[in-house]
This record gives sequence, C-alpha cells and structure tokens, in this order.
Amino acid sequence: MAREPSDQIRSIAEILAVAYSASALRRILLEHTADATGHCRGCRSPTTAAPVWPCRLWEIGKETERIRRSSPPK
Ligand SMILES: [Zn+2]
Repeated sequence: MAREPSDQIRSIAEILAVAYSASALRRILLEHTADATGHCRGCRSPTTAAPVWPCRLWEIGKETERIRRSSPPK
C-alpha cells in the first residue's frame, strides 16, 4: 500500500533537505532499518520500545532524500 507523506513529514523534510548533508541523510536511512522482529534498529533505546519500522524518522529521511533529488543544490 503506497503511503503519501503527511504534511507534517513533508514540512520537516523540506527543512532537513536544506540543513542536512547527503552523507548525514544517508546515515539516518542506514541506521533506521527493521530488525528481525520488524522494529526500528535506529530508534531502539534502553527506556522505550522501538517503534515498528518504517519509523517516523526514516519516513522523514526518505522524504528529505526525495526532495533533495528533485531540487539539486544551487
Ligand atoms: Zn527509527
């Protein structure tokens, strides 16, 4: 099922597309992947349960990447 990014994700991604370097963005997408149980590795912490992947941060990262691709740096 295709999911459209929400307005909130879109607006955060537009900021990150300017603020983040391509390598920083790639690191987020690499860290936030599903583990064997389908939960996000990047969001795992000792105090809170990891969310089911794709997590919000990955969705934002992916949308940021899409925005960067469609508008090359000036
Ligand atoms: Zn995550």
